[in-house]
Amino acid sequence: MNTKIIDGKIISGQIKDELKEKTALLKEKGIEVTLAVILVGADPASQVYVRNKKRACEYIGYRSLSYELPEDTSEEELLKLIDELNGRKDVDGILVQMPLPKHIDEKKVTLAISPDKDVDGFHPMNVGALCVGDKGFVSCTPAGIIQLLKRGVDGFDISGKECVIVGRSNIVGKPMALLMLRENATVTIAHSRTKNLEEVCKRADIIIAAVGKAGMITKDHVKPGAVVIDVGINRSEDGKLCGDVKFDEVSEIASAITPVPGGVGPMTIAMLMYNCYEAAIMHMNS
Ligand code: NDP
Repeated sequence: MNTKIIDGKIISGQIKDELKEKTALLKEKGIEVTLAVILVGADPASQVYVRNKKRACEYIGYRSLSYELPEDTSEEELLKLIDELNGRKDVDGILVQMPLPKHIDEKKVTLAISPDKDVDGFHPMNVGALCVGDKGFVSCTPAGIIQLLKRGVDGFDISGKECVIVGRSNIVGKPMALLMLRENATVTIAHSRTKNLEEVCKRADIIIAAVGKAGMITKDHVKPGAVVIDVGINRSEDGKLCGDVKFDEVSEIASAITPVPGGVGPMTIAMLMYNCYEAAIMHMNS
């Protein structure tokens, strides 16, 4: 089969370039898109994520405000900073890098961010908006997957397709299901208690694997010609980065597939940048 490898680096690059152009136009009107990024502690992976987000801001032409707080920052101090940023007219988006140190309640922090600055799309108001079909910020990874399907597979129409999502987390699986529903797919969500996962997956025209288990989706889960999106980020036994899908064997039967790395990963930051732009437009008009 002539399988299409969906390139997340190219598509995320296109989205960032589109935003760069639109941001230059906003700048001409004196508007600067601003993202506040808060990092608590010195988790090395979080430091890399935050650095990449700041780099993307620089590339597009956003202003980024950086708050790097020590590990022992209290919940109260963090909530106070968020409250301050909520009230600032010159801040469009607020991002608190997760995970937070154990003594801070992540739920409280998520709720503290004003929904109109919640560019991660994690606030229940935004999740609820997605659920009832209102406008709001959409969680970045699932939003990026919709873009991969729309821009990465020529002539592909999500409408009417059978979509199986493996994983039901609040940041990937559940919002993904709602987005696919919005695109008129017929959606099934599978999880650790799903019986006969192979059979369930084999029905799918689109499989989205968001589990976090290296290579658990094999060719036995995939209908020939299906489109396979791999969200997983895992380390294989030899230390290499790999997804939830056995790429070598599945790419032989899928019509299109995302690689790991270079598939879904780069889309998450691109969609965060998209949400920041949308936040700025919303604030400009309010
Ligand atoms: P979670 O651990 O929150 O959720 C994993 C889901 O997989 C759960 O719903 C769980 O089911 C389900 N699951 C576990 N084992 C099985 C199984 N054997 N069969 C079927 N379902 C199973 O993970 P996340 O959603 O946060 O992340 C998933 C993966 O995606 C991770 O590898 C993560 O690193 C990656 N990721 C990548 C991003 C990117 O930008 N590329 C962004 C976010 C995540 P149950 O609910 O029953 O426990």
